[in-house]
Amino acid sequence: MTQIKNIGLFTSGGDAPGMNAAIRAVVRSAIYYNIGVTGIRRGFEGMINGDMFPMGIKSVSNIIQRGGTILKTARSEKFKTVAGRKAAYGQLVKNNIDALIAIGGDGTFRGAKEFNQEFDIPIIGLPGTIDNDLCGTDFTIGYDTAINTVINAVDKIRDTAESHNRLFIVEVMGRDSGLIALRTGIAAGAETIMIPEGNTDIQALFDRLENGRPDKTSKIIMLAENGKVGDAFEVGRLVKERFPNHDTRVSILGHIQRGGSPTCMDRVLASRTGVAAVEALIAGKKNVMVGLVHNQIAFTPFENATKHVTELDPDFLKIVEMLSI
Ligand code: ATP
Repeated sequence: MTQIKNIGLFTSGGDAPGMNAAIRAVVRSAIYYNIGVTGIRRGFEGMINGDMFPMGIKSVSNIIQRGGTILKTARSEKFKTVAGRKAAYGQLVKNNIDALIAIGGDGTFRGAKEFNQEFDIPIIGLPGTIDNDLCGTDFTIGYDTAINTVINAVDKIRDTAESHNRLFIVEVMGRDSGLIALRTGIAAGAETIMIPEGNTDIQALFDRLENGRPDKTSKIIMLAENGKVGDAFEVGRLVKERFPNHDTRVSILGHIQRGGSPTCMDRVLASRTGVAAVEALIAGKKNVMVGLVHNQIAFTPFENATKHVTELDPDFLKIVEMLSI
């Protein structure tokens, strides 16, 4: 057992709905165990600048339902340098912080691992990203809210697509991962899904459109950003060129996918992993991400958690093909 007295808590990288629920869970469970919490604003950047404040029970009142992060978030180039990390450590010592809980994605955990190797401060990670691209958890905090936002938007797009007999190319977020496109493609009844991990090149898309049922009135193509063929406008241009008789439109959902009130699933995931993170520090764990695997709390070393998920369940893609006939 390690005697932790004061935990430094921060959110980092892209914001995700449910980060506030995770902040609340960490603060309240730490207080339950008589441990102090210092909030660090704007991730590693705020750590370097000493932008910190003590967090009490009331500091996290009425935030469980709010999107974004009350601690703010940032990407920090300075933290990628030895001098930046040294300055950050100096601030932690100055503020009597003896452990850290980081809520973020793979970049955040890479930074955390680097930091721990240099300064040996225990760090526990919580998976806060809409991308769901971390190993060691079935779902990340924010993913469920983001995919529900996407299907609500696509349902609306479907109304206009159906009324006008249109084909829509809908681009969703996911940087290097098609996990948002894959799941929402199934849930929104998409014709085809184009993701970095899949085989759908432009010819495969053309074949699918050519061989589809001619009496279909609306069609939705789900496209993950940063695809091999290009962005949604490029795919739209190629489809228009090949099928001039299709009334083709493009919709890029963009940042609405990051915002909004977290779903019940995300709030519960954030609450469970937040409590587990504090208990893990008390038990002497470090350099691990807390996730849920088969609905049980699981700990994964940072270096394994950040291994990019490159293989998606092939059954998911097959389901799209089977059900969109
Ligand atoms: P999301 O997946 O939502 O974008 P993320 O945590 O992956 O979240 P990044 O911007 O990739 O977001 O990383 C957050 C921050 O972590 C970076 O701005 C940088 O300060 C730090 N970081 C990333 N990689 C390293 C590294 N190799 N060494 C030190 N710090 C790093």
